Amino acid sequence: MPTDDDLSHFLKDVHWLMDILQNIDVGLVVLDHDYRICLWNQFMQNHSGKAPEHVLNEGLFRVFPELSEDWFRRKAEPAFVLQSATFTTWEQRPYLFHFPHYRPITGTARFMYQNTTIIPLLNTRSEVSHICLIVYDVTDTAMNKLAQIEANDRLEGLSRVDHLTQLYNRGHWEHCLQQEFKRYDRYKIPCTLVLFDIDHFKSVNDTYGHTAGDDVIRMVSDCLREQLRDTDVAGRYGGEEFGVILTNTDAAGGLEFAERLRKAVQAQAVDTNHHAIKVTISLGVGELNPLIGDSQQWLELADKALYYCKEHGRNQSHAL
Ligand code: GH3
Ligand code: MG
Ligand code: MG
Repeated sequence: MPTDDDLSHFLKDVHWLMDILQNIDVGLVVLDHDYRICLWNQFMQNHSGKAPEHVLNEGLFRVFPELSEDWFRRKAEPAFVLQSATFTTWEQRPYLFHFPHYRPITGTARFMYQNTTIIPLLNTRSEVSHICLIVYDVTDTAMNKLAQIEANDRLEGLSRVDHLTQLYNRGHWEHCLQQEFKRYDRYKIPCTLVLFDIDHFKSVNDTYGHTAGDDVIRMVSDCLREQLRDTDVAGRYGGEEFGVILTNTDAAGGLEFAERLRKAVQAQAVDTNHHAIKVTISLGVGELNPLIGDSQQWLELADKALYYCKEHGRNQSHAL
C-alpha cells in the first residue's frame, strides 16, 4: 500500500513535470482520437494567441480551419493505428500551425517554420487513446538554408551568363544546343540555328579603341534581345560572334529572323567621342535535318552558311 508520503512525493513529481511541460520551449498538444485538444502548453498559447480555455475540448480543425484535415489525418492515423511516431519537416510543409514570426534576427520570416513529431500515447490497457504533437520552431535553420539555396541559385545563374552582354556564355549555350539537338532527335520538331558575326570588327577596335568595341558588342546584343521570343536561346559564342537557337522554326523562319536582326543592327549607331559607329552583321542559318549527327555538325552547318555571307560581300543572311 502506498503511504501518504509516497503519494505526496508522486503528486509533487507530477506537478513539477507539468510545470516543465508548460514552460518548455517547444509546442505540446495532446489530441484524442476525435482530434479534440486535451493539452495546450504555454508555447502554443504564446504563439497562437489562443488561451487553453478557448481551445481545450475543442476540435483541432474547428480551432485551426486553415489546417488541411485530410493531410493531417493521413499523417496522424499511423500513430493511432500502428502505434508508431510520424514526422513532418518544414521542407515538406513549412508549418503545421500558422504562427506569425516576430523575432528581430530572423525578421525576414513571415511565419514560424516548424518540424513536428507525432507520438502515440498509451493508456493503461496499452491502447493508443491519444497522440501528442511536439512542435519545434526551426525558423532560424530554415531561413539559413533558404538563404543558402538562393545564393547557390544566384551563383549558378552567374556562371551561365556572359558578363559583357548578359546573354548566355558559350558553355551554357552549347549545352542548350545539345539539349535542343536531342529534343529534335526524339520529336522531329523543326529547329533552326542562327550564327552571326560582326563585319570588319577588327577595324572598329583599331579605329575607336577596345572600349568602343565593347559598346558595339553590347549594342548588337541589345538588338538581338529585342528580336527574341521567350523560347529562343541566345548566347555569346565568341568575341563578336553570337548564336541563337530558334525552336519550332524552319529555315525560312530562321532567315526571316536573321534579316529582321540584320536590319535592326544596321539601323543602330553607337555614339562615342563625336563619332557614330555603325556596324553590320553577317548571319548563317542552319535548320536541323536528319543528316545532322550531333550538335557540332549543326554548328558547322550554320558556320558554313555564315562563311558564305562573308565570302559574298557581308551584311547579309544565308540559309543552308
Ligand atoms: P569579319 O568581317 O571577317 O568577321 O572581320 P572581323 O574584323 O570582324 O574579323 P573577326 O571576326 O575575326 O574579328 C574578331 C575581332 O574581335 C578580333 C578581336 O580583337 C575582337 N574581339 C574579340 N572579343 C572582343 C571583345 O570582347 N571586345 C572587343 N572590343 N573586341 C573583341
Ligand atoms: Mg569573328
Ligand atoms: Mg567579325
